[in-house]
Amino acid sequence: MLPDESTLQLLFAQLNYQFFNGEIPAHRIGYNSRFSNCAGRISYRQKPPLIELSAKHLADSPNALRETLLHEMIHAWLFSVGKNPGHGADFKRKMKEVGIASIYHDLGNARPIRESNKRYILRCEKCAMELLRKRKPAQTISCGRCSKRGYDARFPLSVYEILEIKQLDAVAASRSRPHNR
Ligand SMILES: [Zn+2]
Ligand SMILES: [Zn+2]
Repeated sequence: MLPDESTLQLLFAQLNYQFFNGEIPAHRIGYNSRFSNCAGRISYRQKPPLIELSAKHLADSPNALRETLLHEMIHAWLFSVGKNPGHGADFKRKMKEVGIASIYHDLGNARPIRESNKRYILRCEKCAMELLRKRKPAQTISCGRCSKRGYDARFPLSVYEILEIKQLDAVAASRSRPHNR
């Protein structure tokens, strides 16, 4: 059973005090039922900023829900204190501090709901937008959201290889249906 959104808000406040000295400004926490490949997402530019959690991925696991929220809160905290909000060194340091083992909210503890053999995450360190790709891109791609007029070298997408792939490998071996993207 999923906690309702006011309970999420409470959990946010608790974790904020427990791990971030209450430094994260107010965020709206909600569910998004349309996520197919990720368990959580943060949008910094809304007012207040928005953290969305995947109802489908997290319904059966209160622990995965807490971890996913905590993961998004690390992004939120880094962003609010003016540090790089991406999955960089600061992120990893804080991750260890709060006791999260895997960097990928997308594929870490939450079971994928759709078969997927995507192995790479392309991430914009500016707006934190993430894309999943089967292959490593041959050339540098810039973020479609930040560079409005075609390629822009200021907003390259960083490429991360998905390492927590055990569960997916088992699924990928028996893949039979085409993928949606
Ligand atoms: Zn993340
Ligand atoms: Zn971007």
